[in-house]
Amino acid sequence: AHCEIPLHYAGFEIAPNDLKAALLLTAEREFVGLNITIPHKRAAAMLCDELDGFAAAIGAVNCLRFDHGKLIGRNTDGPGFARAIAEEFGVELGGLRVLLLGAGGGAGRAIAHECARARCAKLVLANRDETKARDLAQQLAAEAIRWSDDAFASALAEVDLVVNATPLGMKDTDEPLIDATLLRRDLLVYDIIYEPVRTRLLDDAANAGARIGNGLSMLLHQGALSFEQWFDRAAPIDVMRAALA
Ligand code: NAP
Repeated sequence: AHCEIPLHYAGFEIAPNDLKAALLLTAEREFVGLNITIPHKRAAAMLCDELDGFAAAIGAVNCLRFDHGKLIGRNTDGPGFARAIAEEFGVELGGLRVLLLGAGGGAGRAIAHECARARCAKLVLANRDETKARDLAQQLAAEAIRWSDDAFASALAEVDLVVNATPLGMKDTDEPLIDATLLRRDLLVYDIIYEPVRTRLLDDAANAGARIGNGLSMLLHQGALSFEQWFDRAAPIDVMRAALA
């Protein structure tokens, strides 16, 4: 509305078996594009006519655009994350040593690929299913560690930024992701969860004096990048930010 574009952004719940039919229907109805979320990001990538190189490497898309009858898939989660880190902490992702928890999930994979693309000074991957972290680490020339408190403790001593890409922390009853005593004031801690706005991890990190950021900035920037894909113009970032507040 702010840009006076006579279109709507609406939510649709699509069952996994209906994804292909839904994409055909949105093409027929002359949608400009779509954002795709859980659980469709991988399946949608396989239904695209074209993927950009980054989305192809990840094997998952969150942003689709219809272009002269072709369905083009992109992944704006990764670049949205890089912009979020720059905005939250005033530093470029590439200069940081990063520990990523939940590297095997949809968002985690996109973030891992983005860290590799940014040539992070160090990239350490952890995932509950450890084979996923090992496979991805091999692909990205990163380091994989065990999903254990001891492994987290050693890794934390040698990183600048810790990222939670698991859903752990969405519920009050969730066990703590990292032992609070391991968190230090010189760490940057980013949780991609945005509901609640302050997870236990962020609370513990703030209590330790660390700088913290939550997933609202990533949500904002992946959305702004999607807007740019659909409309070939800069996104009204401040209006979008205010809408999320
Ligand atoms: P996903 O593909 O289902 O991945 C979930 C990840 O979390 C996997 O690595 C999984 O490990 C791990 N995990 C799940 N439960 C766990 C537990 N109890 N203990 C340890 N690890 C656990 O989900 P996703 O799409 O990546 O989303 C993950 C979270 O990020 C959600 O909270 C979502 O809302 C949020 N998100 C935020 C943004 C944003 O813009 N801020 C964007 C996307 C997602 P395994 O591989 O071992 O199962």
